[in-house]
Amino acid sequence: MLSVTQMNAFLGNTLQLLRRSIELGGFPPELYEYLSRPKRILAVSIPVRLDGGGLAFFEGYRVQHNDALGPYKGGIRFHPEVSLADDVALATIMTLKDSLAGIPYGGAKGAVRVDPRRLSPRELEELSRGYVRAVAPLIGDELDIPAPDVGTNSQIMAWMADEYSKIAGRNVPGVFTAKPPELWGNPVREYSTGLGVAVIAVYAAKALWGSSDGKTAAIQGFGNVGRWTAYWLEKMGVKVVAVSDVNGTVYKRGGLVAAELIEKNRNARGPDLLSQVAKYNDASIAQDPGAVFGIDADILVPAALENAITEDNVKLVRAKLVVEGANGPTTPEAEKALYERGVVVVPDVLANAGGVVMSYLEWVENLQWVMWDEEETRARLEKIMADNFKRVHQRWVQEKGWTVRDAAYVIAVERIYRAMKARGWI
Ligand code: GLU
Repeated sequence: MLSVTQMNAFLGNTLQLLRRSIELGGFPPELYEYLSRPKRILAVSIPVRLDGGGLAFFEGYRVQHNDALGPYKGGIRFHPEVSLADDVALATIMTLKDSLAGIPYGGAKGAVRVDPRRLSPRELEELSRGYVRAVAPLIGDELDIPAPDVGTNSQIMAWMADEYSKIAGRNVPGVFTAKPPELWGNPVREYSTGLGVAVIAVYAAKALWGSSDGKTAAIQGFGNVGRWTAYWLEKMGVKVVAVSDVNGTVYKRGGLVAAELIEKNRNARGPDLLSQVAKYNDASIAQDPGAVFGIDADILVPAALENAITEDNVKLVRAKLVVEGANGPTTPEAEKALYERGVVVVPDVLANAGGVVMSYLEWVENLQWVMWDEEETRARLEKIMADNFKRVHQRWVQEKGWTVRDAAYVIAVERIYRAMKARGWI
């Protein structure tokens, strides 16, 4: 690890998983030395003139972890508590996710320490554009391609793509992905992460139980990933019995009906969707957001932030299948406890890759100035996700005593290792 990065639990856990996969796969220890350090860290300060007249300064980062497989790729998180260590962990996960998906990208992640909900739309736009001006020398459509993550969205990507294009003096569509369809985006990107999570959950359910029909699911987090996972699971015949966000948990034994509401709120900014779901289903919101973990459901989808399922609450979990919609939601200790109880955890790098796989498709469109329609794009996305699942599943059944994460990480590390070897880096 680079000494400028102060270690925290999330980064420690990520490095522990990386080390384990390097050992399990029989790769040289030097590879761990390489991959436990990002190649480049950029720290920036972004001044924003507040509506009240004062000037506020926000701290931001762009971590470029590894580019053995291609240009750096990964989202930008706006969150008041995000740290540089979190950003390094997230960038490391992106390197693995991009590798596992078989796409030609390395891994990166950006972050700004800010609560975007406390900024006015004008302040948010100024911050987004300021971030781009600060990192512009190190990003580009064949260099480093950011996208949204927690706290950012397609409108922010539109401002960012516009700002970068102004600096370049020409339109550069391929430098950011998950842009709105009006600005070189693809309509599938808005729901692609949730669609991918649902596709993987259904494949995993079939592998475990022979069928996913009538199975039940509980979803923690109702942001972009959680709500579109709920939407697609409902469409695919899985009963979503509980959803939660920071305000609480909504539960209905017979299954919630939410797809139509989610579709209707597709472009709304920050709607209080959870209370709408409760009202629509004649259910109430239990004040406890953590109640979602103890719901009696076959599948649990943590789709909020890292460190959600920990040693402390793992005993509550009743699901037999956990599908990680968020990045790093299960700590290694919690995963071990789940493994010992026979609970299967489908890891982030496989389960939530639909976002970055769709980003890749949008980028391919942008570089050639071509446009695919929604159906065609979705078919491509679903095929890549299905292939990813098959590859990981095949390896997992071969290797006794491995978790699904072990199989996914070893496949991911192997591809990076081969590229590094071919280049003569190792
Ligand atoms: N932020 C998403 C992730 O963690 C998407 C990244 C991207 O599309 O580049 O996978």
